[in-house]
Amino acid sequence: MTKKKGRVFSGARPTGRQHLGNYLGAIKNYVALQDTYEDTIYCIVDVHALTTVETTSELKQNTYDMTLDWLAAGMRPDESMIFVQSHIPEVMELHTFLSMVTPLGKLTDLPTFKEKVRQQPHNINYGLVGYPVLMAADIALYKAVAVPVGVDQAPHLEFTREIVRSFNYRYNTNVLVEPQMVATEVPKVLGIDGKNKMGKSLNNHIELASTPKETQERVMQMVTDPQRARLSDPGNPDVCNVFTMHKIFSDAEEVERINDECRKAEIGCVACKKLFAKNLNENLMPFRERRAEFAQDPAYVWDVLNDGADRARVIAQETLSEVKEAIGLP
Ligand code: SF4
Repeated sequence: MTKKKGRVFSGARPTGRQHLGNYLGAIKNYVALQDTYEDTIYCIVDVHALTTVETTSELKQNTYDMTLDWLAAGMRPDESMIFVQSHIPEVMELHTFLSMVTPLGKLTDLPTFKEKVRQQPHNINYGLVGYPVLMAADIALYKAVAVPVGVDQAPHLEFTREIVRSFNYRYNTNVLVEPQMVATEVPKVLGIDGKNKMGKSLNNHIELASTPKETQERVMQMVTDPQRARLSDPGNPDVCNVFTMHKIFSDAEEVERINDECRKAEIGCVACKKLFAKNLNENLMPFRERRAEFAQDPAYVWDVLNDGADRARVIAQETLSEVKEAIGLP
């Protein structure tokens, strides 16, 4: 297959062992983009994490665990540059330059900033305000032409594009590239509570690297159709998160059968969940085997990150020197 020209960039916070929501919402797409774009850059944005984390004691382990999961899921370090944001300090410099062309009022007006202020009123730090500028620097530093984002994140990318345009306009240059959005279909993955988006903070997640037994235990806790109190009550798969997951991880015939039997009360939720747990574990088996192999050599995982940083740094330094020249810095 001929790959598209240009570079894709995406960043993710070091959240440690990844869960189904991370996989379906981002990692799966990261892996696929390697086949469609010439250059793929995936950055673990540890500096961004500092705006919200209470303690940094787990940052290193989380970075390692996340990289391990990424590699096991099929991210290929010989093709993609996988690295840690803080290993390329040039991004902080570009952030400073971009901050000069970004109106403060716009930053404090952003719904995401207001949301964070609500969430952590005891810690409204400068980094929270400058977050979108650092994000713009992440993307612009590597001259990414494309950024995969779900529809809900589209306004963030639009803001990056504005900052890039402002910079180019202010300094009468075209050094920085306005990235395009690669619209990705990100399914809304609900947690085992069946209500909220899957995430670690709500402890409603299912980790990819769990054992089959742990996975089954989590699946058995999943909330199903709330109207179905007894086995003899017909269920409604359309409002059941277990069914949504079956559609992703079970084969079409089985999905069709569950759909039918659930509505006729011919299958119970316990049996349905056991089936899902079995199918999920089967789907995750190759991932878990690869992960166990990578885990035997932790030095390799750090080598991947160091090598990714070395390659990314070359691009970063080049861009930064062009940026300084465009500004007219002596
Ligand atoms: S039988 Fe399956 S699809 Fe139907 S409500 Fe129960 S868990 Fe959901």
